[in-house]
Amino acid sequence: MRAMILDRPGTPLHLAELPVPQPGPGGVLIEVEACGVCRTDLHLLDGELPDATPPVIPGHEIVGRVAALGAGVAGLAAGQRVGVPWLGSTCGRCDYCRSGRENLCDAARFTGCQINGGYAEFTVADARYCFPLPDDGDAALLAPLLCAGLIGYRALSMAGEARRIGIYGFGAAAHIVAQVLKFQGREFHAFTRPGDAASQEFARRLGAAWAGGTDQAAPVALDAALIFAPAGPLVPLALRQLGKGGVVVCAGIHMSEIPAFPYDILWGERSIRSVANLTRRDGLEFLDLAPRVPVRTEVRRFPLAQANEALEQLRRGEFQGAAVLTMGRC
Ligand SMILES: [Zn+2]
Ligand SMILES: [Zn+2]
Repeated sequence: MRAMILDRPGTPLHLAELPVPQPGPGGVLIEVEACGVCRTDLHLLDGELPDATPPVIPGHEIVGRVAALGAGVAGLAAGQRVGVPWLGSTCGRCDYCRSGRENLCDAARFTGCQINGGYAEFTVADARYCFPLPDDGDAALLAPLLCAGLIGYRALSMAGEARRIGIYGFGAAAHIVAQVLKFQGREFHAFTRPGDAASQEFARRLGAAWAGGTDQAAPVALDAALIFAPAGPLVPLALRQLGKGGVVVCAGIHMSEIPAFPYDILWGERSIRSVANLTRRDGLEFLDLAPRVPVRTEVRRFPLAQANEALEQLRRGEFQGAAVLTMGRC
């Protein structure tokens, strides 16, 4: 099979011919149709994920078809379409796993980080962490749901019943969350890089009540702010936009340093929290919700061999929506 491999941080991925992996007990071999390109993949390339174990095949927004089942796999059939997310496996025994918080498991392993991912024509996943996906439809449009969608959904759930929501960084996750917010009848305000008129227009097209730069103030006090951009200075900026009792949710796996800020912008029961990974329950809930919205992702497609180009365009913010690698069949 063809695969794009990261040998070590700070170097581009390289295309390699590898033997098709074989699923062990509990595993499933998946013929990949499409794999989303996530900002976390850039953090992996840049050496910002301390738990990563290169060499590794990146990619954790995998849509594909079951090609072979390992021993003991129940509930999946050959030919079935499945999705593979970031959460690749957990211990199942620790306090976190036993209290509905498997996303926090200390022994969790992550797809495209410690487990080879979907920047390849085939991949092997633990069957218990795969999600069934609809059989029809364009695999490339489904791929961003597997991380941008799931993490956006989990971040939104941390905002509780907030009615007015600020979104910082209007990329793949934001463009999906925006559609969910409209569906739920909530109001959202989009903050982009100052002067990024294209992203602001994209946000308005998806229903933003207001869109502007992160250096601007929203016209109303916000109940919650979701930060999808990996920039620590956004945290005090977002805090200043909150009404009392509001929450800033940091949704990325990595963020630059948060500058010091005066206590009075946190006072009034405002809070700051992070969102880490996902649980399988998040996945099932979101994948049930998405077709009812319905979420329509906007994607830029790249052939597998152009993964480096896709990553660099993501880094430079050159497109709206999500980048997706396709394996030549969609
Ligand atoms: Zn991701
Ligand atoms: Zn655990």
